[in-house]
Amino acid sequence: MTMLFETGLSRRFFLRGTGGGLLLGSALGAAGPSFAQSTGASGGGGPALPPDGPTGRPMPEMEKAMPEAPGKRLGYAIVGLGQFALNQIIPSFAESKSSKLVALVSGNRDKALQVADRYGVEQANIYDYQNFDRIADNDEIDIVYIILPNALHAEYTVRAFKAGKHVLCEKPMAVTADECETMIRAGREADRKLMIAYRAQYEPYNMEAIRMAREGELGRIRLVTSDHGRILDPKVPADQWRMVKALAGGGSLYDIGIYSLQAARTITGEEPVEVSAHISSDRSDPRFREIEELVAFQLRFPSGALANLTSSYSTAPVKRIQVFGSKASLVLDPATEYERHQMMVKTEKEERRVQIPEGNQFAAEMDHMAKAVLEEREPKTPGEEGLRDIRIMQAIYQAAEQGRPVSLETTGSTAR
Ligand code: NDP
Repeated sequence: MTMLFETGLSRRFFLRGTGGGLLLGSALGAAGPSFAQSTGASGGGGPALPPDGPTGRPMPEMEKAMPEAPGKRLGYAIVGLGQFALNQIIPSFAESKSSKLVALVSGNRDKALQVADRYGVEQANIYDYQNFDRIADNDEIDIVYIILPNALHAEYTVRAFKAGKHVLCEKPMAVTADECETMIRAGREADRKLMIAYRAQYEPYNMEAIRMAREGELGRIRLVTSDHGRILDPKVPADQWRMVKALAGGGSLYDIGIYSLQAARTITGEEPVEVSAHISSDRSDPRFREIEELVAFQLRFPSGALANLTSSYSTAPVKRIQVFGSKASLVLDPATEYERHQMMVKTEKEERRVQIPEGNQFAAEMDHMAKAVLEEREPKTPGEEGLRDIRIMQAIYQAAEQGRPVSLETTGSTAR
């Protein structure tokens, strides 16, 4: 076994086992077999060795917790079988512990049948947008996960609540603050949970960056910068609705600038009191006739910390967060990838790489929601969290349009 790494700041270290899994060093020291035991070279009086023939052996030390029994996992209906649902979310049920896929909602029945066949979903549990409300009669469905274009989030959330289900909804929560408020109210009236799928808040590197910043390991946080950009491609079906304002609600800000905004809010643990912004869109480019291309925005927080943030739909891919504290700075780049995150921490004296095990953020967020339902507690990212971002993004549009800073009503710290 070889020591893989040690994070100087978190003081946790991990070992790679022979099976390739990651194990906590301290746990292994206590329970791992000695060399003499594992080779059978005990000097007498050692543990009994297994017989030559076939035999059962004790439960091995678990490198990963086993999932809950199927009957104890909550059933999910996935609404919208698009790029994200099929490539990231549905495959992640295999790594979830408290969640299982039981139903599909799609406007393309052939595609839904194909997906159902591969993932063992019963044909009777396939719905379309017209008969969606019949999920009310299906007790296998506990949670509805909405992965539709942004402008459809509110309608399907409200319909799912009316059917008596809990809702996990993709970001951005909705198009307007009014829609968000309607969604929150519908959840309360139905006495059901609403969670927004802010996956970065369930991803180990982002969680570690937030922890380090909030626990003072970087000193006093003075500045956060974050850039999220990619090239919108009209040939890709998933990008086509993103060019239509009536479906997307906004452009690069709503789609990926929301990650820059989330980074600033979660890392500082504060709500911004003022925002200023510039937007630049090449209206001769058919992609940007309806939605914005580039956004640069600044936030001012009650502590005096500032955030300098961007989003882009026309530049090479970037998903970066930088945090500048009075003791150290932190760079997470890529920050909001699906995997392979990289984190560096720099002080006046040294620069070091922080490595922690990657985790499946999609499985983690679905399990978080399932646990919130089972344990009757609020999820970490409830509807109110989605509403805050929509209000701030609306203020960003307003600031850019008016060419002057816009003051925001502050709700104080978000620290939990
Ligand atoms: P896709 O276009 O790939 O998928 C959207 C699906 O919604 C379609 O496949 C279709 O499913 C359904 N749909 C229903 N009505 C329409 C319509 N009028 N136009 C287009 N699709 C429609 O988009 P994405 O998967 O990329 O995005 C879906 C949602 O997920 C968005 O809210 C987005 O912001 C979010 N997302 C979140 C990510 C994250 O990292 N958290 C990453 C990517 C997206 P069907 O054919 O089954 O009916």
